[in-house]
Amino acid sequence: MSCCCSTSSSKLMPLDEALSLLIRSATPVVDEETVMLDEAMDRVLSQPVTSNINVPAWDNSAMDGYALCYEDTASLDQIPVSQRIPAGTTGQPLQPGTAARIFTGAPVPAGADTVIMQEMVSREGEMIRINGDVNTGANIRRVAEDIRRGDEIIEAGCKLQTQHIGLAASTGTDRLVVKRKLRVAIFTTGDELIMPGQPLGAGKIYNSNRYLFRGLLEKLGCEVIDLGNVIDEYQATCDAINTGVDKADLILSSGGVSVGEEDYVKKALEEMGRLDLWKIAVRPGKPLAFGKVKGVPFIGVPGNPVSLFVTFSIFARPFILRSMGITDETPVEYRVVAGFDWDRPDKRIEYMRARLETNDEGQKVVNVYPSRSSGILSSVTWADGMVVLEPGQQIAKGDNVRFIPFTSLY
Ligand code: AMP
Ligand code: MG
Repeated sequence: MSCCCSTSSSKLMPLDEALSLLIRSATPVVDEETVMLDEAMDRVLSQPVTSNINVPAWDNSAMDGYALCYEDTASLDQIPVSQRIPAGTTGQPLQPGTAARIFTGAPVPAGADTVIMQEMVSREGEMIRINGDVNTGANIRRVAEDIRRGDEIIEAGCKLQTQHIGLAASTGTDRLVVKRKLRVAIFTTGDELIMPGQPLGAGKIYNSNRYLFRGLLEKLGCEVIDLGNVIDEYQATCDAINTGVDKADLILSSGGVSVGEEDYVKKALEEMGRLDLWKIAVRPGKPLAFGKVKGVPFIGVPGNPVSLFVTFSIFARPFILRSMGITDETPVEYRVVAGFDWDRPDKRIEYMRARLETNDEGQKVVNVYPSRSSGILSSVTWADGMVVLEPGQQIAKGDNVRFIPFTSLY
């Protein structure tokens, strides 16, 4: 029905503006489900986790050794051992003037205020002698020093990782309320595409985007609804979009969104809903299609596989993370020493395929792929991240540059 920011406009949209428009238009999934800890990895927490207990639940020994009351025993040459407290048991209140044999993690008995590690002690039958100085209060892990009862320990909107699941377990929590997985329908477009495993016919190319889409989405934790490849034909394109609308929270497609006469995604979307073609001031840059059909958002990325990878990483990823209910989608980035010179500054912000290497002086530096061409998919496997150059930025070896490792994106 409508289309704005047409590709014929020469005015480029700044990257930040495009990103904030995208992020603001993402609606987080509301449906929740409860999962056991075993199934919680990479899920998005929907209800914050609060602890019902103190952790540790009681003062306990940080060492294998002897628990005693410093004041009661300071003047004694030898101290009788009055009880033994292995981890998993609770001892008796400490008899004054004695020590308790104690093991790491065992509760410190009432009346004791210090644990002497066993390496500082000589055992003489049922007596001990302490060699060295004693610090009152030493080697005791205090009740609630990690978590206090009632504390919120994991915020909603967090993508659960091993450490979060371990922390929940440490409070006795066995299940977590997470967002339903985001359902993302994908389709590729093009009469030239055939699937790997088929013979390569004349004029054909293998469909790599289908695998790129699936992999990137699964890494983000989405449920993928693969609608396959759609031939360059209007009705087939409408059918794919309709299936996506029925089944998914978001539709993603590759190719078919420039202004060529074979670009049916654009035509179909304009008929069925709303489509904006954004020309963003970014390199590598192709128009990004963003629209809505019957309330379902649609993102169309360029067909070129390298452009897909970069465009998805910069634009689709944050939109998807927000839609999943994740509150912070900013990837971790580093300032790294450049191992390259760059004297071809661009008016647009530029994302270069890059990787960390060690130079001849043994210094860790980041280098960029020698070709800027976005037709070379092997540049993405060569790389382990992206260098981001600000508009107009020139680089000399030794300068600091922004580097976003792929591992912080996926
Ligand atoms: P398009 O945006 O449809 O004009 O495609 C741009 C370029 O990317 C063309 O060279 C296409 O053949 C190529 N391309 C499009 N889709 C795919 C795909 N799924 N896998 C690999 N290459 C593709
Ligand atoms: Mg095409």
